[in-house]
Amino acid sequence: MELNDLYRDVILDHNRRPRNFGMLEHADASVEGFNPMCGDRLTVRLKMAGDAIADIRFEGEGCAISTASASLMTEAVKGKTRAEALALFDRMHRLLTGETAPAGEVGKLAALSGVREFPARVKCASLCWHTLASALQSADPRDLPAVSTE
Ligand code: ZN
Repeated sequence: MELNDLYRDVILDHNRRPRNFGMLEHADASVEGFNPMCGDRLTVRLKMAGDAIADIRFEGEGCAISTASASLMTEAVKGKTRAEALALFDRMHRLLTGETAPAGEVGKLAALSGVREFPARVKCASLCWHTLASALQSADPRDLPAVSTE
């Protein structure tokens, strides 16, 4: 199987059966993100345990890329500390915008690397990450490292 086929299958699978999709009761943070270029809309909810993401869920409506990206993101950051999640955001940002980032560093999230050939879709894939960063900030605004938003 070609790598591109594998990536496509991961995206189709996560779009069809999004992981961690739905309401999260008693969330510490709930932030809505909107991508006007495509119409993607999603809400990310977090439950923190100290500095770690104890639980994360998302809800919303969007294109296949935005839904698959959010699904993959929730799997990737659950259990991670705030700093680890933001470091992953940074690596994803570099991957999505075409700057070099070895696929191994991002694991399954590499399935989204194909969007860098379609600049209009980059925001579809990065929407959930920007929303996550806002949610982390809203859960605990103390000493959060600066996050690039572009
Ligand atoms: Zn989209």
